[in-house]
Order: sequence, then C-alpha cells, then structure tokens
Amino acid sequence: MRYSSPDIHLNLNVRGLKPSATLQINEKCAALMSEGKKVYRFGLGQSPFPIPDEVVNSLKANAYRKEYLPVKGLRELRDAIAAFNERVQQIEIKRQNVLVGPGSKELIFLLQLVYYGELIIPTPSWVSYAPQAKIIGRNITWVPTRKEDNWVLQPEMLEKLAKDDPFRPRLVILNYPSNPTGYAYPKERLKQLAKVARKYKMIIVSDEIYGLLNFEGKHDSIAHYYPEGTIISSGLSKWCGAGGWRLGFFSFPPELVWLQEALAVAASETFTSTSAPIQYAAITAFQGSPAIEKYLLDSRKVLKAIGCYLTDELNELDIQLHYPQGAFYLFPDFSRFKDKLRERGIYTSKQLCEKLLEETGVAILPGSDFGRPPGEMTCRMAYVDFDGNHALKVADTFKAGEELCPTMSEGVQVLKNWMSRYS
Ligand code: PMP
Ligand code: GLU
Repeated sequence: MRYSSPDIHLNLNVRGLKPSATLQINEKCAALMSEGKKVYRFGLGQSPFPIPDEVVNSLKANAYRKEYLPVKGLRELRDAIAAFNERVQQIEIKRQNVLVGPGSKELIFLLQLVYYGELIIPTPSWVSYAPQAKIIGRNITWVPTRKEDNWVLQPEMLEKLAKDDPFRPRLVILNYPSNPTGYAYPKERLKQLAKVARKYKMIIVSDEIYGLLNFEGKHDSIAHYYPEGTIISSGLSKWCGAGGWRLGFFSFPPELVWLQEALAVAASETFTSTSAPIQYAAITAFQGSPAIEKYLLDSRKVLKAIGCYLTDELNELDIQLHYPQGAFYLFPDFSRFKDKLRERGIYTSKQLCEKLLEETGVAILPGSDFGRPPGEMTCRMAYVDFDGNHALKVADTFKAGEELCPTMSEGVQVLKNWMSRYS
C-alpha cells in the first residue's frame, strides 16, 4: 500500500530527525503544566523581558503595511542596521551589505544551503546548526572544546583540522556570548582564530544574537580581526525580547557580495520578504533611544544577577561552574555524580534530564543536544522563568532569589536535592 509506511517517502536527510530540542522541551513543559503538574522551566531560551514600548508602538502604527517588501529588506531598515553596527561596535557596514530575514535561524539555514562547504562547529553549540546541515546534506565537523577553557574553540584545533586539506571550503560558526554556555571569547582568542581562518580562507558566521546581552556591555566581534571573511548574524530576538516577531539579519563584508546575492536569490524563492509591519517596527529598535539604552543596561544587570546567583547555588554541589558572561544560559557538568547515577540506570545526559523531569518537574536540556558526548553529564539551563517586566522596574536594586525569581529559586533547590541523592 502506498500510504502504509509513509516514512519511506521522506527525503533521506530528514528521515529520523526529531523536532528541535528547544521547542520540544517547551511543548512538553506546557503539556505537563496543563495536566496540573508543577514544572520548573529551564528549557526553552526566550527573553523574559517585554519588548520596549516604543518598538511595540511602532508596530501598532505600521500594522496597516501590507506590501511585499524588497527581498533583502526595507531600505530604511538596512540603513538603521548598518548604523547600529557602527554605533554599538564600530563596525563599518553599508546598507548594501545587510540582508534581512525572518529570523537569523532561517538565514543560517539558507547560507548553509547556498554555500557548498563543510560546516565546522565547536561542541557545545546551539541545537539547530547541525540539524540544518543534515537537512541540506552537508558534512558536519564538530570540534571539541574544554570545560576548563570555558568551552571556547582553540585555534590549534581549527588549524589541525584545516591543514590536512587546506583548500577545502569551510563555514565556521562561532556564537558568543554562547548558547548554551553563557561564555564569551576573549579578545586574544578572537585574534588567534581570525589568523587561522584567514590562512585557510574559511568563512566565519559570527552568531552575535546575544551580543548586546554581554553583561558588561563589552561585546567584541571577530569581524574586527577578520573583516573580509566574517558574516555577522544577529536580530531582534534576544536583546529586544522579540523572538516571536521573527526578524534577523546578516551583514556581509563586500568581499562576500557574491554569497549575499546567492542568498538573496534563495530568499526570493522561499520566504519572499520579511513581514512588512515587523520591518518597520525594527527600524525603531535598531535606531535606538535613551529608553532602549536603559532597557539594555537593566536587562544585563538582571540577567547577570540571576546567572551568578544560580551559579553559586549549583556550585554548592561542588561542580566548579564559572560565572556566565552574557546571554541567559548555564552549562553545568554533573559528571562528578556519574558513578552513582549509573547505579540508578542513568548512563547519558539525556536519561539524566528525562529522569529529573519525571521525578521532580525540573526541565533542562542534555548536553548531547548541543553536540557533547552522550555519556558526559553536561546540561543546559536557560534562566528566563521570571517576571521580566517587574525585574526591569527594580533593576537597580535587583537581588536574585526567592522573592524576585521564586520558581527558579525553588527549581534550583529541587535540582540540588535530587542530585545530592547521587553523591
Ligand atoms: N543563534 C542562537 C545561538 C540562538 O540561540 C538562536 C535562538 N533564537 C538563534 C540563532 C536564532 O534566532 P532567531 O532565528 O530568533 O533570530
Ligand atoms: N534559541 C532558543 C533556545 O536555544 C530557542 C529558539 C530556537 O531554538 O529557535 O532555547
């Protein structure tokens, strides 16, 4: 029967692929909560803060816009993004070098589609890069990093994999502050990586979606050290609290205009153009204002306080977690408990997360979803389950803990108690 086994009619590249881990955990939590279960949501990473009022008002004022806009994005928005890059990180980009899309995720996917090269990603890396390459049928090379080195890529590792086949086209994705670790690359490391990338003509996608959420406001881009080969990727989702609006951008160096043009062609045959009202509202966001500046300062203060508070709490388990430097993630390693976990039939980080959720309602994601070896007991915790609106109002005196983030505060105690049973 033609329809009896529909799976065999699927493209081999997508056969067996599961829905994205971040979205799946969110749906699982919602389902458990609708059954009346208590759930501590450390799963999906979405901004807890409201979108700044002036950006929302701009969307309201532009709701009537109904035209298809230019494939590469609205002219005024591309100007605003170019000026924004110059203002916030002194990177000179012209309007012509900007490409707007419905989320940077879609742009990263299209880039992998149009560029015929191997994908290089550090482990751990965000959950979607590798499945995207798989869907397209590209080779993926995971490059291990070390916990002691804050999980950032070592230039020697990049050199090692490139030197055997120096002319192979390669796309390297670096993401900092990082999802899933919350760590950033030190300036020296960016310079060293830039040197290797230049030597082997690698293209770097610098995923800076959390750049404005560097807690000290000191985000540094590898585009400063390798401008000719770096594509900067960012958008509205994280710093502006607008993940669901779906607006991202790429900025290309003039040397990669051929790649930008190819991407625009693929865009024209797939998403056509990004939603018109959202693009108009995004102009307001990228142009910035004193109120948006204050919003950013306050967001960083609050996230830093919570990140450090949860790190201190987790370190009571003696796991030697370093403080995060940006974004809203922690990447603890519970390998210290490995032997005892095994005695209870837990051999992988995936099993650890499943058991933890089942027995306590604490939802976190396994390190294996981020490319770590299945038997390593690393996990990602997103710390966004609190009242972001209220937190911004009291940002100057914000103290992370029971009062201002009660669910997470209780959740981390529950997690600690559960884990202590294995020590
Ligand atoms: N990169 C990283 C590291 C992310 O965490 C995300 C998740 N939102 C994205 C890219 C995609 O962001 P968006 O599509 O919302 O611009
Ligand atoms: N980036 C977010 C996360 O890692 C969620 C959104 C997504 O994955 O597209 O949890």
